[in-house]
Amino acid sequence: MRWTAFIREGASRAFNHRPTFSNLVLLVGAASSGGLVAYADSKSDDVVDKPQGPQKKKVVVLGTGWGGTTFLRNLDSRLYDVQVISPRNYFAFTPLLPSVTCGTVEPRSVVEPIRRILEKKGGDIKFWEAECFKIDSANKKIHCRSNIGTNLDGDGEFLVDYDYLVVAVGARSNTFNTPGVVENCHFLKEVEDAQKIRRSVMDCFERASLPYLDEEERKNSLHFVVVGGGPTGVEFAAELHDFVTEDLSKLYPAIQHLVKISLVEAADHILTMFDKRITKFAEEKFVRDGINVKTGYKVVKVSKDAITMQNPATGDIAVPYGMAVWSTGIGTRPFVVEFMKQIGQGNRRVLATDEWLRVLECDGVYAVGDCATINQRRVMEDISEIFRVADKDNSGTLTVKEIQDVLDDIYVRYPQVELYLKSRQMNGIADLVRTSKGDAEKESIELNIEEFKKALSLVDSQVKNLPATAQVAAQQGQYLARCFNKMKDAEENPEGPIRIRGEGRHRFRPFRYRHLGQFAPLGGEQTAAQLPGDWISIGHSSQWLWYSVYATKQISWRTRALVISDWSRRFVFGRDSSCI
Ligand code: FAD
Ligand code: MG
Repeated sequence: MRWTAFIREGASRAFNHRPTFSNLVLLVGAASSGGLVAYADSKSDDVVDKPQGPQKKKVVVLGTGWGGTTFLRNLDSRLYDVQVISPRNYFAFTPLLPSVTCGTVEPRSVVEPIRRILEKKGGDIKFWEAECFKIDSANKKIHCRSNIGTNLDGDGEFLVDYDYLVVAVGARSNTFNTPGVVENCHFLKEVEDAQKIRRSVMDCFERASLPYLDEEERKNSLHFVVVGGGPTGVEFAAELHDFVTEDLSKLYPAIQHLVKISLVEAADHILTMFDKRITKFAEEKFVRDGINVKTGYKVVKVSKDAITMQNPATGDIAVPYGMAVWSTGIGTRPFVVEFMKQIGQGNRRVLATDEWLRVLECDGVYAVGDCATINQRRVMEDISEIFRVADKDNSGTLTVKEIQDVLDDIYVRYPQVELYLKSRQMNGIADLVRTSKGDAEKESIELNIEEFKKALSLVDSQVKNLPATAQVAAQQGQYLARCFNKMKDAEENPEGPIRIRGEGRHRFRPFRYRHLGQFAPLGGEQTAAQLPGDWISIGHSSQWLWYSVYATKQISWRTRALVISDWSRRFVFGRDSSCI
């Protein structure tokens, strides 16, 4: 869809100022030339040229989404015995799913068979189309079930051993236990969901055209409700509006005036994760387009014919509808919840990993993407150890020089320190320690433990959870593959920061997310783009940036060609309205 632009660093740097037509053309040009595109078809630079002997360790990857697929594409599969397990035998480019719901892009254009991806790698990677339903981390086994075949017992279940398990199973749609949602609403998570929505939209139009309906029934049938004003809901509402105004209004002239699209959001605004200027622009544009934006309304029940929503001013209101799409957020998959209970994470909402993406308290299990969250260590938890490590001369005080000596390691281990300094426009740690020592001369500052604690007491406020996006999942998959590729080398030559609570250095640097920007397509060939450095662009030029970035980020030349040809077909012939 929309939001998270996967622009490579060079491109994002080039656009750190307001775009001109020429630099947009440049980007589109770059996208179609090899430079940016190389990302999609290349393997990692970190592949080690040393295949191992017969006793390769078993790596099992769960999931063929953003995290799992990026991990596999970057892994040197000669080093391990790799097995992939997923109920889906393809990778889906989720950012384009909203475009699939209205036929702007065809379903097969946004998917790539996993076996084709594995074949390109040339290694001997095995794929099993099945879902994991239990992780037995004590015995390093996973229990799987195939939906397409059965074994002699007739249940299709089998066991797989692992040495390393990479959990990349994504998340499920979250209904917050709202009654009637599962039975009556569409979700927009998988390709099948997008296909169902497309058919359902057309069914609503065909039903509303039948001869025996009265005006009220036709109106209800053509009321499309989108629940959730996040990026997915907003993009779907915009796509649907374009489909109706650009294509269906010509094909259904007698009923087109009855169409209503409502976007329901419990918070006070839509797109709250974006800059306020984008939120405001989107809300105003939707109102101009005639989309009924209902902010401050919480959906409490969905029945076959009506959606009940609540607002402090109006109380409960029941609104008849023809089709509803539920897009209010994500939750943890049930078998991951079970696994969390097993490993003592039962009180958490999301599976927690450390900064190296290792599941906490669970040997050999890693997790990437939407199914996990990184538990960033707080400076204040380790403050005494940091002090001890920095105080090389054991004087009981820290000089600025002593702090400077460990600073690089601290920045790597606790990224919140650097973020905090930046947020306060401080140039370095000396500025920070001065805050607890008044105006003393920098060089002569010496801090005792209490003063050191005081100086760093607020840095943890900068710890934030990463968003559940493809951008995060892909970067984590790539990072983890690099660690696996270098696992042996890093034993001898650790490249991470010094261990604050142990001896020596960490094998690897912790995972560090680089935000490359995000998009919110708003329909009518207009997109809002928010790039690093708070650079905002809204309008037609950003739409071209969106096209070029998403063409570039396709996983293969085949899907890239298909997506571009779908976009061109839509420009020339419009979208197809057949109910197939
Ligand atoms: P997924 O990509 O969801 O992959 C999970 C994989 O695990 C799938 O292959 C699934 O079949 C498999 N699986 C599920 N259960 C099991 C099991 N029991 N055993 C084994 N395998 C299993 N992000 C952006 O950054 N930019 C965007 O523009 C954007 N647009 C989006 C639009 C839509 C409509 C949606 C739904 C999401 C969008 N996202 C976007 C979010 C992005 O898709 C997710 O953050 C991303 O897919 C997470 O990657 P993942 O690998 O964790 O999970
Ligand atoms: Mg000292």
